[in-house]
Amino acid sequence: QDGADWIINGAKMWITNGNLAHIAIVWAQTGDGIQGFIVPTDSAGFKAQEIHKKMSLRASVTSALFFDNVRVPDSARLPNVKGLKGPLGCLTQARYGITWGPIGAAQACLREVLDYTAERILFGRPLASNQAIQLKLADMARRITTAQLLSLQLGRLKDAGKMQPTQVSLAKWNNCRMAIDIARQCRDILGGAGITTEHSAIRHALNLESVITYEGTETVHELVGGRELTGINAF
Ligand SMILES: Cc1cc2nc3c(=O)[nH]c(=O)nc-3n(C[C@H](O)[C@H](O)[C@H](O)COP(=O)(O)OP(=O)(O)OC[C@H]3O[C@@H](n4cnc5c(N)ncnc54)[C@H](O)[C@@H]3O)c2cc1C
Repeated sequence: QDGADWIINGAKMWITNGNLAHIAIVWAQTGDGIQGFIVPTDSAGFKAQEIHKKMSLRASVTSALFFDNVRVPDSARLPNVKGLKGPLGCLTQARYGITWGPIGAAQACLREVLDYTAERILFGRPLASNQAIQLKLADMARRITTAQLLSLQLGRLKDAGKMQPTQVSLAKWNNCRMAIDIARQCRDILGGAGITTEHSAIRHALNLESVITYEGTETVHELVGGRELTGINAF
């Protein structure tokens, strides 16, 4: 804090749309705990650097943000929240939305291999006529349906104002794990054809590597579950 202003210093990696945004919502450590600030990206001392060489989410811009004595007035401070409650409250809502995305990715992968295994003829019969393939396809449908029901129930709890962060962690963990496993399995069922972008399984699998990491890594969501069960914070 500097008189009526605030001066922000620091850096943050992996910010979606950091190079495109006109404002950044910044959660900063202050003498009075964590507080939120709205920072115009044309402020002096603000720099956004695009991160290149990504193998995942290549259609989305990801940036590193740097703050070098960025000065903002007190009116830029979010007035009604202090501490981790603010950012974590946003994250719980965003993570609920994320539980749905991987379901769509998994559905697209299953749809694609249903078509492919029906058309791919091996030794005079469709690939889909093998029990080993059908067992995998049926198991994918089971896992997708379970994830749909989980997100649907979470949505009902959200509507009723009863959704708990640990429930969101469980669903984010489950649905990302479900989708990345299905995308990789579909990539395998596509054989050599699965390694090209001609088919979408490998693209979904690579994108899901980001989704399983952002908005809380899988490990961290598992640890949230462990804390709920044991009452012990292990992270
Ligand atoms: C494409 C993309 C877009 C993103 N967009 C945004 C964005 O818009 N805004 C934003 O704020 N962030 C964004 N992120 C950041 C994302 O949320 C972080 O990358 C993620 O939270 C992991 O943090 P980290 O990369 O620092 O990994 P680390 O925290 O360094 O973790 C590395 C590994 O260690 C594990 N680990 C960490 N702590 C523990 C522990 N206590 N016990 C056991 N294991 C542990 C993790 O699970 C992980 O496997 C984005 C990331 C990506 C990839």
